[in-house]
Amino acid sequence: MTALCVRQAVCVAVSVAAAVVALTGCVTPTDVSDDRFIRFFDELAFGSGVDSDHANRLVRWEGSLRFQVRGDASFRTQAVQIMAELGRMADLADAPEQTNDAAVILHQEPAGVSFPINRDRVDCYIHYKRRGPVIVGADIHIAAREPQRVELCLYHEVFHLFGLGHSGAIASVMSPFHGVSAPTRWDFMAARFILSDKVNSGMLRQRVLDTLGRKLPSLRAMPG
Ligand SMILES: [Zn+2]
Repeated sequence: MTALCVRQAVCVAVSVAAAVVALTGCVTPTDVSDDRFIRFFDELAFGSGVDSDHANRLVRWEGSLRFQVRGDASFRTQAVQIMAELGRMADLADAPEQTNDAAVILHQEPAGVSFPINRDRVDCYIHYKRRGPVIVGADIHIAAREPQRVELCLYHEVFHLFGLGHSGAIASVMSPFHGVSAPTRWDFMAARFILSDKVNSGMLRQRVLDTLGRKLPSLRAMPG
């Protein structure tokens, strides 16, 4: 059934059949129920197994987002544009700022380089640094060259920086199955929530999910 989820357009076509939706995880954005979004966020924040501490306590980025970019002119331009858009869509209190001493570094790697992740090789990855439940810095490596792929890589890896892992529950740049070409509004809702003052780093999973349930109406009301 996964093949049906390769393109979002296909998912829209099959989503009329509730049984198929349940099996494939394909839904149109307007179809996503509160329960489904909470499951999506639960998988993103606690279920990815990036490390064992993620299983029960919230691990996330905090504060303003300062970053460096190391690469050629077109990579630097694209990275700065995407960080600005990300700051706007994730509703960061301060716009992401490019500074020379930032602890988040976006590295453009030589074309064709790949990185081993589990048993795959990928063209972008993140290595982040933590202090307890707070992510305090990261090196993000991008070997992709095609601009659309670079964009997807940057969004995906910065969502990891925020503390979000992977989920196939909803069309998302954090899903390996949906094949989306850009972040969805569900990605930005998840980013807004994990970065919000409604939750704290180290907060227990159930409390985070209960808070999410209460805050979903206001999250849904935000633009994007
Ligand atoms: Zn990932």
